[in-house]
Amino acid sequence: MKLAQRVGRIQPSPTLAITAKANALRAEGRDIISFGAGEPDFDTPANIREAAIRSIRDGFTRYTPVGGIPELKDAIIEKLRRDNGLAYGRSEIVVSCGAKHVLYNLAQALFEEGDEVIVPSPYWVSYPDIVLLAGAAPVIFETREADGFKVTPDRLEEVITGQTKALILNSPSNPTGATYTFDELKAIADVIVKKDIVVISDEIYEKILYDGFPFSSIAMVGEAVKRRSVVVNGVSKAYAMTGWRIGYAAGPEDIVSAMTKIQSQNTSNPTSISQKAAVEALNGDQSAVGEMVEAFAQRRDYIVASLCGIAGISCFNPEGAFYVFPDVSALYGKTYKGSVITGSASFAEYLLDVANIAVVSGAAFGSDAHIRLSYATSMENIREGIERIGNAVKKLG
Ligand SMILES: *Cc1c(COP(=O)(O)O)cnc(C)c1O
Repeated sequence: MKLAQRVGRIQPSPTLAITAKANALRAEGRDIISFGAGEPDFDTPANIREAAIRSIRDGFTRYTPVGGIPELKDAIIEKLRRDNGLAYGRSEIVVSCGAKHVLYNLAQALFEEGDEVIVPSPYWVSYPDIVLLAGAAPVIFETREADGFKVTPDRLEEVITGQTKALILNSPSNPTGATYTFDELKAIADVIVKKDIVVISDEIYEKILYDGFPFSSIAMVGEAVKRRSVVVNGVSKAYAMTGWRIGYAAGPEDIVSAMTKIQSQNTSNPTSISQKAAVEALNGDQSAVGEMVEAFAQRRDYIVASLCGIAGISCFNPEGAFYVFPDVSALYGKTYKGSVITGSASFAEYLLDVANIAVVSGAAFGSDAHIRLSYATSMENIREGIERIGNAVKKLG
């Protein structure tokens, strides 16, 4: 069958692929430790699960308004006010089936052929493909490890052209964990306003920050940039709710209403039951979030220090999210039994074959010098896994 050309323009999500591969090898009996997961290893907190069960018992099982139930929109409005000092009305909020779906609808609402969208690299794997599916061109903006993997305003200004429609920012970042300060965002906001482009701010890791690093959204900088910002967030990462599929956007009414229109012709509303659970996540007891972040913080400290202890690996210390993105390029060109490590994909393959370790190649995120490890796995797995990586590296000649 001849498929539509758009299918050939994109790739299946490489992070979901590595998780599937690790699971398949495990099913064959191999003792795989996976650092591939892009989701918290905790259960959804009990109060949230109970809220969902209650909603089923109450028969809250029908279609809801396309963009989300008023109760959830109000919980989101209150969250944005409480946590970020941002004021929005119901017509400026849309709830979708996960932040990924939010981004997809947003791209469909905003981008078309001829548009350029600036995607800083290392980037979350889905950004370029979501832009491509909308017919626009992702313009990859390489950040430097020396700049903390961050966009700097002067370099940003240089890549903006007459075709530039938007910049996608992700802070804290998947895969690097880099997080912008308020002042850094303020400098970027000046460029956004001056060049009159849109900024898409993916804040899904807002709650997962370490060492007291304060979270800032670019929309907090001022009214002029807020009018050009679409804040994207969700409950997946903060509340260990990846399977529930609830994400949301807050932004200018015309954009939000276009996203809602598009959603009305693809999924209709997000799941009624999940919406009730998300209300509880946002309004209910927040203590589980802090407990998860504390566990992530201990793991981060251990994994960064132990990776840095392996000769040939250097590791950037992430301020947020639950990934490390070590530079392993010093190992390229080395060999094992005659086969050469040529880059991040080949190193990832080597770790899987020789050490039963699953990681994602940096190339999938736009940086072949690195690999990504998720530390959303137990301390026991992390200890054993890093030891295996160390031994595998020692075998290279
Ligand atoms: C996990 C993730 C998302 C998607 O989250 P869902 O709400 O589960 O769709 C979006 N952006 C980034 C950077 C992520 O890591």
